[in-house]
Amino acid sequence: MKKLIAGNWKMNGSLSMVCEFSSCMNEAMATTTHDVLICLPYPYISYANKLFASKNILLGGQDCSIFKDTGAYTGEVSAEMLRDLGCSYVIVGHSERRDYFNESNEVIQAKLERALEASLNVILCVGETLEERNKNIHFDKIKTQVLSAVSSLNDGNLESLIIAYEPIWAIGSGLSATSAQANEMHEYIHDIISEHFGTKNAKNVAILYGGSMNEKNAKDLLSQSYIDGGLIGGASLKSEVLSQIVTTKI
Ligand code: PEP
Repeated sequence: MKKLIAGNWKMNGSLSMVCEFSSCMNEAMATTTHDVLICLPYPYISYANKLFASKNILLGGQDCSIFKDTGAYTGEVSAEMLRDLGCSYVIVGHSERRDYFNESNEVIQAKLERALEASLNVILCVGETLEERNKNIHFDKIKTQVLSAVSSLNDGNLESLIIAYEPIWAIGSGLSATSAQANEMHEYIHDIISEHFGTKNAKNVAILYGGSMNEKNAKDLLSQSYIDGGLIGGASLKSEVLSQIVTTKI
């Protein structure tokens, strides 16, 4: 089955980096069997749209506004605007948004709804801290995060929903979850969705793993039965590294 390899550049990049990726990813894009997405800082989306479209690299935003209508919301970027710029995906609920910007489960649920209304595919991030894992409350934490975001969705929304399991202790730390730890949590997330929406509908929800995925551990992680792709931060910032991940054979 096709996996989704999604890069998250966070607050990194430049016009020249977009240009470099567009030329250096050629070979990888010609041979990959996976879907490839890059989630960019807002200012580079339009330029990337011009360069990436012919390479089949999908475009995404890293966040969107909670507000639906246009108006006096200084600094905000709506889901509709992302769509207008050529994005087909957006990340919501990244742990950096939850942590640095105090985004609650309620805020994330509202952003998820805005994104779906704008016909974007949404990557909903969930994850536990190391302390929560050590206290053995990581499954409860994930269940709360998932259910608070998806409870109001209908079956039809699920085709546009992707969940990224990103243990916070693995993000940017160089210490990935083991493939067994990741697969166990993915199965648990799959079961939560199954219980709520039924087994048939749950099949429509891809579950990505994020947290120090790189060219060395990608094959092992992506080969797991419940891992449908990766959300990749640091390792998506070098075209040669992302190319290796994108061409990983499963
Ligand atoms: C992320 O922040 O979404 C992420 C997975 O980062 P990294 O790959 O650098 O751990």
